Amino acid sequence: MPSPPCQAVLQVSPHSNSFYHQTPLQGFKILKQDQLESNSIVPRTLVFDRCLLPPPISETKKTIVLDLDETLVHSSPDPPPKMYDFVVRPSIDGQIMKFYVLKRPGVDSFLEEISKKHEVVVFTAGLEQYASQVLDRIDPKGLISYRLYRDSCKEMEEKMVKDLSEMGRDLGKVVIVDDNPNAYTLQPENAIPIPPFVEDGEDRELEKLVQFFEWCEPFEDMRLAVKQYFSGGNDGGSSGAADGIDL
Ligand SMILES: [Mg+2]
Repeated sequence: MPSPPCQAVLQVSPHSNSFYHQTPLQGFKILKQDQLESNSIVPRTLVFDRCLLPPPISETKKTIVLDLDETLVHSSPDPPPKMYDFVVRPSIDGQIMKFYVLKRPGVDSFLEEISKKHEVVVFTAGLEQYASQVLDRIDPKGLISYRLYRDSCKEMEEKMVKDLSEMGRDLGKVVIVDDNPNAYTLQPENAIPIPPFVEDGEDRELEKLVQFFEWCEPFEDMRLAVKQYFSGGNDGGSSGAADGIDL
């Protein structure tokens, strides 16, 4: 069910080159002429819809939504763990925190590969102050198109839920990769579970995911691909494991 638009209205100058404006609500709908106030001097007016992302650049491109913690990286506070790749120092509630971040094996080539053919979005339940610093480090080339943080999650029965229906995308073209099943409570048919990463240097889950997305290419509806794969219909012989890809 589409969410009702909020009341905020953005007026756009006809001379502006920027049709879309990045805002906390990130979503746009063009008002019909008769919805405009008669004395409006601005011919184009937009009202925010509850979309988390701007409209897609391509209607056919699939969108891969990635969780951050325990999916792409593992972070821990002081004391320093044995292994870490870099440190971030976000200011949270006015206090500088220190997190030691370990990248999941293969994360660099994973982002490189999947971003060639897909729109890549990171959707984390983490705070922006922390997660944006981690993403700046793991994505220096800007392969991730959009970043969504905790304030874009829905809190349902004390769970942080990532509602894909608010992304402004055809749900047949979206998948979410997340180690926490709470995240995809609302759209389990779009979900690719991944075992949580903590420190296993031999972890190969992201490599397997690249192969999985190649296998998915012929599918127009990603929900069918996910269903077929996890019901054991893939050529790789998955037995329908609920804890990740088994190619
Ligand atoms: Mg996670």
